[in-house]
Amino acid sequence: QTLPSTDRDSAALIARRRGTVADAQEFYYDEPPMMVRGWKEYLVDADARVYLDVLNNVTSIGHAHPRLVDAVTRQWSLLNTNSRFNYLEVVDFSERLSALLPDALSSVFLVNSGSEAVDLALRIARAWKGRPDVLAVREAYHGWTYLSDAVSTSIADNPDALSTRPHWVHTVDAPNTYRGKYRGTESSRYADEAVAEVERLAAAETPAGAFIAETFYGNAGGIALPDGYLDAVYNAVRKHGGLAVADEVQVGYGRLGEWFWGFEQQGVVPDIVAVAKAMGNGHPLGAVITTPEIAAHYRSQGYFFSSAGGSPVSSVVGLTVLDVIRDEKLQENAVETGSYLKKRLAALGERHPLVGTVHGSGFYLGLEFVRDRETLEPATEETEAICERLREVGIIVQPTSDHQCVLKIKPPMCLTRASADAFVDALDQVLTTGW
Ligand code: PMP
Repeated sequence: QTLPSTDRDSAALIARRRGTVADAQEFYYDEPPMMVRGWKEYLVDADARVYLDVLNNVTSIGHAHPRLVDAVTRQWSLLNTNSRFNYLEVVDFSERLSALLPDALSSVFLVNSGSEAVDLALRIARAWKGRPDVLAVREAYHGWTYLSDAVSTSIADNPDALSTRPHWVHTVDAPNTYRGKYRGTESSRYADEAVAEVERLAAAETPAGAFIAETFYGNAGGIALPDGYLDAVYNAVRKHGGLAVADEVQVGYGRLGEWFWGFEQQGVVPDIVAVAKAMGNGHPLGAVITTPEIAAHYRSQGYFFSSAGGSPVSSVVGLTVLDVIRDEKLQENAVETGSYLKKRLAALGERHPLVGTVHGSGFYLGLEFVRDRETLEPATEETEAICERLREVGIIVQPTSDHQCVLKIKPPMCLTRASADAFVDALDQVLTTGW
């Protein structure tokens, strides 16, 4: 069979794609460029056009990192096998990972994605006291597997998300301190309401076996949870025998700059942590870390086995990504360049009324566009058009939040100050000249 050549033709590739890749899988842009290479915080298309990638939180250490390429090539040529064998790399990586977490969290499960990590975390929590009920935060995304999808209620991914939850999923309001129902000094009421829901579930004899939340509100562009929020809800859930599950898939791993993990910002220690994305720099790698006691309890329900989870190659990827984050001081760069970028983005608000606010910390930023700073009417169509226009001038960025009016700014953590300037200057120009 002769297939039409798509060597350099993005439109022809889309046509081929529509014929074979199931269309439930969305992709960025109406007319997406055909990407052929990546390098640091840049992407290159088939016409050799270079784009600045300020979106790609998966590629934490940068595209095509030579150290990662070398380490993976070496490990592939030595050994890659299923995880039931006894080999060094999985032990080295698990030790490194658990050393990054509070002492109590020292039992590591390695999987292949964020969805798997969340799914396993919820299974482990279910096994703890045999309680199926889960409390989750609305407007969150946690994955596509049965359990991780069950607790995902972001309407950006599924307009019927809230009305189609299984009966054992209970939700509380998203603690959005910018546009949610409680703001400013009233923000502590989100925790009060969540605690009341925990108590209601316990009184109804359906106590939550787990409370799952992102530790920094990611879907809305990286809004810090109200002070004391996780502490209050974790304590309430634990009081009734449930476990606190932290989804660090997006916000963890140094991206927030000041904190390696989002839960540190809240001053809490979860019972179970789910992590993925950044840890593999795009390689399928995820992890669940919990206490030995909780892990042993899960073990008593049977074996856990993931063929490629924690394979020699995956473990080497995980180790190398951590080496690079440390040696290239990428978390420090998230503090310095991230706060510089945030300041420059915030300054755009002085000249462009469309800029509502800039959320986030480090290299997890969200620039929210509103039509009116009083009513906070979401500038949804404008945001989409701005993203298209930015693509035309060589910047890759996409909207997030249930209103799709927040630019999600999560660049590879090697982003330079010059690249930060290039992004803000381009955005400034688009906001000035129109989209
Ligand atoms: N949790 C969060 C907070 C996420 O953002 C995502 C992915 N967007 C997932 C879980 C699922 O991760 P994956 O796509 O690797 O399955």
